[in-house]
Amino acid sequence: MSSPRVIAIDGPAGSGKSTIARALADHLGLEYLDTGAMYRAVAFAALRARIDPGEAAAVVAVAQAMDLVLDRTSCVVDGVDATEAIRGAEVTAAVSTVAAVAEVRKELVERQRAWVAERGGGVVEGRDIGSVVFPDARLKVYLTASPEVRARRRAGEIGDADVEWVAADIRRRDDADSGRVASPLVAADGSVTIDTSDLGIDEVVAVIVGLL
Ligand code: C5P
Repeated sequence: MSSPRVIAIDGPAGSGKSTIARALADHLGLEYLDTGAMYRAVAFAALRARIDPGEAAAVVAVAQAMDLVLDRTSCVVDGVDATEAIRGAEVTAAVSTVAAVAEVRKELVERQRAWVAERGGGVVEGRDIGSVVFPDARLKVYLTASPEVRARRRAGEIGDADVEWVAADIRRRDDADSGRVASPLVAADGSVTIDTSDLGIDEVVAVIVGLL
């Protein structure tokens, strides 16, 4: 699939993906898709239906039936506003389990490709965007940052969260996301890695615009 107007932004939790992807989309006048929110929406829908996230077949059925309306400011799942709940501890604890199910990924990848096809392009962020979803993206960026910086950023986003607890949660999700069989988190072939530990948002955006 040729995706000349897609910019793929991948990387682990706390690497700055969402902040950078949004700023870049604004700078370029493109739309922005947060695919992590889509996996979070599946976890939310499963928990709401009282399905154990480990019950793969039931989770797949939930993903396939899910009505998802996602934009930059809100996430509505089957008519329920899930904007805050998808960032909460319960969904965060379950999301890597549902994201490891190949059939769940197949369903969401189809939706991601349809989203881009409708718009003719966009800035798409996730874990497998450059490696699997849009391997022909115009530019593939892999963002990283030191574990300390990532934990501090995530703790800051959550509010008063304990940095040690957040660091442990990030390590757990990194291991699950990198170690899974289906589309593990990797720097895609042809991607450019940027370490954001010591860079501000504008500096990272400038580097990416320079690459374009
Ligand atoms: O980006 P965010 O931290 O919101 O992603 C939540 C989870 O969704 C990740 O930990 C990962 O398990 C899953 N995910 C994925 N593939 C993507 C985006 C997110 O597996 N493209």
